[in-house]
Amino acid sequence: MNKFEALGLGEAVIKAVEDMGFETPSEVQEKAIPILLNEDTDIVALAQTGTGKTAAFGFPLIEKVDSSSRITQGLILSPTRELCLQITNELKNYSKFIPGLHTVAIYGGASISDQAKQIKRGAQIIVATPGRMQDMINRKMVDISNIGYCVLDEADEMLNMGFYEDINAILSHTPKEKNTWLFSATMPKEVSTIAKRFMSAPVEITVGHKNTGSKNVSHEYYVVNSRDRYAALKRLADANPDIFSVIFCRTKRDTQKVAENLIEDGYNAAALHGDLSQNQRDLVMKSFRNRQIQMLVATDVAARGIDVDNVTHVINYQLPDEIETYTHRSGRTGRAGKSGVSMVIVSKSELRKIKSVERIIKKSFEKKEIPSGEEICQIQLFHLASDIKKSEINHEIDSYLPSINEVLEEFTKEELIKKFFSVEFSRFHNYYKKSRDLNTSVNDRDRGEYTSNGNSTRYFINVGEKDGFDWMTLKDFLKDALSLGSDSLTRVDVKESFSFFNTNTEDKEKVLEVFEDFKLQGRNVNVEISKDSRRRSPKRRNEGGGYKGKRRSDGFKPKNKKRFDSYNKDDRGNNGRRDRRKRSDRN
Ligand code: ADP
Ligand code: MG
Repeated sequence: MNKFEALGLGEAVIKAVEDMGFETPSEVQEKAIPILLNEDTDIVALAQTGTGKTAAFGFPLIEKVDSSSRITQGLILSPTRELCLQITNELKNYSKFIPGLHTVAIYGGASISDQAKQIKRGAQIIVATPGRMQDMINRKMVDISNIGYCVLDEADEMLNMGFYEDINAILSHTPKEKNTWLFSATMPKEVSTIAKRFMSAPVEITVGHKNTGSKNVSHEYYVVNSRDRYAALKRLADANPDIFSVIFCRTKRDTQKVAENLIEDGYNAAALHGDLSQNQRDLVMKSFRNRQIQMLVATDVAARGIDVDNVTHVINYQLPDEIETYTHRSGRTGRAGKSGVSMVIVSKSELRKIKSVERIIKKSFEKKEIPSGEEICQIQLFHLASDIKKSEINHEIDSYLPSINEVLEEFTKEELIKKFFSVEFSRFHNYYKKSRDLNTSVNDRDRGEYTSNGNSTRYFINVGEKDGFDWMTLKDFLKDALSLGSDSLTRVDVKESFSFFNTNTEDKEKVLEVFEDFKLQGRNVNVEISKDSRRRSPKRRNEGGGYKGKRRSDGFKPKNKKRFDSYNKDDRGNNGRRDRRKRSDRN
């Protein structure tokens, strides 16, 4: 019996689980699913983001609703449109082998009459944001008077966003004898108030740790002009010679194009998207697993469920349309206890999305600069040196050595090293000598940084990640230190060695007073009203210092990475090996 069957799930859900490639239940799933399946109870489940809460309530909910009745039986409230859509998609996936079961998403910013039509056709499960739900109840477009289950997902976030009144009003339209399932990452006062008010004797489960996957991933973004995206991608690859990566594009077309360009430019790359046959996809995945492919360019759909260990980098060539998808992407790296980097190439106009992603992943991004040509040359040279150092001597060459020695006998060791490295360096140097700085300068407004205004004041505080804080713990710390509620304390943004936060302006005096002489573990904690200039990352390397040459068409063929013996072939333009790969990818 597989581990999901052991939790009591039925055949149709098990089949979907297998399709999605879930192998073992996460901790919160293991704890919650049997309870929700077997007991008629309310529940409060606390587990961090990324621990699989959606399935923890989604699987049992699907088992519980009667798909032969068209009545709405389950309501899931979630804080944002993105999450609402994400949950709806997940539920549709979970229930794809249950004919007649319909899940409908209700959220603001889209046609209300379309949503009403979908409901009218019959929706056993509704996933909604509180505002739009309230609106539709008022207009009598939905009937939730018969629901048996109400899920409050990301309850802390919903309350943070000020949905208390809406939730209150929505729940007043539901029957008393339903079960309420509350899922949350944290348990602030407001959440326990909701639990007390709307739930009866809930079972409580708490899951200790964040899944380690996301913990091991650091997030970086690079701001470039849209037309430099591809050049930037190449530099990121060149600056990481041992890269083993998944590169995400938004469309099949872009995926194909980027992969083709990379192959053309000599990288071990391939595309993975839905227009390939199953057989082609299997081949690509096999080569990727065998590491014959270093850069797998993929669409989100095709890469779903890719489970390859030791992926070093996820590169977001473009950010996904649905911000939530970012989590799926970055989860391709940092697996099995290894660390990984998720990089995002953005244009100035997309910068605000970085903030939204930060809110969802609950981690902050580091702004980095695309390396200059000079830096890349240096990295490649060191990489070559360490490759040489690690290389086993191949005794097949022994018989040729006398004649080789004859050619090179006039040189000292130092000269030989210089010459040898010049071979490599010249190629990179020639390519990169006229390269421009690809970084676009940004200001705080582009970045969607929060500033002080009449009602809200932003502060700088000299503690950050390196002091063990993340946004949640810093918020808790500030709430305690300042005796402020969540409604005054907002926009907590933790950077490596410092952070920012906002409070209502009326609390300004209090904040400054409390932190006038404040010590944390013997260290002076310093809080100041944030000035625009200070919001920049202090580590701005190399601003404007890159090569500013003319734009050139990037006809550079770097190298067949790792294959030392093919370097010279490349120089002669003989790249038969690559041509073969190119054809097989296109077929
Ligand atoms: P949460 O709501 O706790 O933040 P999600 O439900 O969004 O987490 O799940 C995070 C990711 O983990 C999703 O991509 C989901 O498909 C995946 N996932 C959930 N459960 C499992 C499992 N048992 N095995 C593998 N992946 C899982
Ligand atoms: Mg969730």
